Amino acid sequence: MKIVDIKTRTFKYKTNHVRDSEGHGHPGPEHDATQTLLTIVTDEGPAGYAFGVNPAIAEQIFKPALVGEDPFYREKLWQRLKHWQRIHRNLTDNVIGVADMALWDLAGRCFDQPVYKLLGGYRDKVLAYASTMCGDEEPGGLSSPDDYARFAEWCIQRGYKAIKLHTWMPPIAWAPDPKMDVKACAAVREAVGDDIPLMLDCYHYYSREQALYIGRELEKLNYYWFEEPMDEHSTSSYAWLAEQLDIPVVGPETAEGKMYTRAEWILRGAADILRGGVGDVGGITPLMKTVHLAESFGMAMEVHGGGGGNLQVLGAMGIPGEFYERGLLHPFIDYDEVEPWLHSKIDAMDDEGYVHLPQGPGLGYDINFDYIEENSVETGK
Ligand code: MG
Repeated sequence: MKIVDIKTRTFKYKTNHVRDSEGHGHPGPEHDATQTLLTIVTDEGPAGYAFGVNPAIAEQIFKPALVGEDPFYREKLWQRLKHWQRIHRNLTDNVIGVADMALWDLAGRCFDQPVYKLLGGYRDKVLAYASTMCGDEEPGGLSSPDDYARFAEWCIQRGYKAIKLHTWMPPIAWAPDPKMDVKACAAVREAVGDDIPLMLDCYHYYSREQALYIGRELEKLNYYWFEEPMDEHSTSSYAWLAEQLDIPVVGPETAEGKMYTRAEWILRGAADILRGGVGDVGGITPLMKTVHLAESFGMAMEVHGGGGGNLQVLGAMGIPGEFYERGLLHPFIDYDEVEPWLHSKIDAMDDEGYVHLPQGPGLGYDINFDYIEENSVETGK
């Protein structure tokens, strides 16, 4: 089998997600947005699909790198794309990850199996945690510790067995504020009781002393992990923090460097629980390497973010990976609403709080090709 073409199709949809001046997502007025589908076309019929590609990079890099190659040589093709990054600095790990996921999707479709079974299946369902949006200033949204507490109660009613707060960040004028973060964490603990695992992912550029203060307060509140309170480029700061705290520090999430950076974090003792997602490290191929790295050091690893790629890796993880990150959630957004370009939710959650691994072939996306065709904003390449 050979790859004969790389296609992209950009299409419109309506959303009420908006981004603030620091890039964080919030609810807002409905408006048009676009999404892009990547298709890897083969000479024998089956195709591989993934969402979120940059069309220009697909044309300029994926085509010369992939066309003419055997699509089952995923390791070779991933290494090749990694090499392109030396010169093409806009070829981010996130973008490489889309190509890698489309290749895994193609393999799954060829063998009529979900990707996690090709990787080596371990489980068919994963417990989810409710991952909130960042704090805001919308009354009844996430504007106060009490808002977080009321939303946490709703999450428990919905079936979630664990909750992670993202708290207030700039551009809110008074944010960040370590004391307010702790107040929100305390209000949620008070609301849900002692038995629910709770996690905090706060402002990402606190000082060492601020991070240590928050971490010690989280220990008193019996929080389950503490995530990214400082710039992750400073491995030394995380080693300093993890040394002093009992609560597990989880990371790195956004630091560049794929599994290499994560190996250094392990050696430095900078995290107690390793972290990474398909968008952080460049796809399923390097995320599985990261999983095995964690396993080799006897460490737990928590997968960052949702979607088909992360879910399939969770289905193949023989070490915890305890949770699937479901969200981001907000009182004003219906996360369970199916995206218009899909026929069903990839991460539907049952009343017990489990997300079941999709049993369809590949990544498991049940794609609504008619919607994509009807809402296309450019001629497919
Ligand atoms: Mg995070």
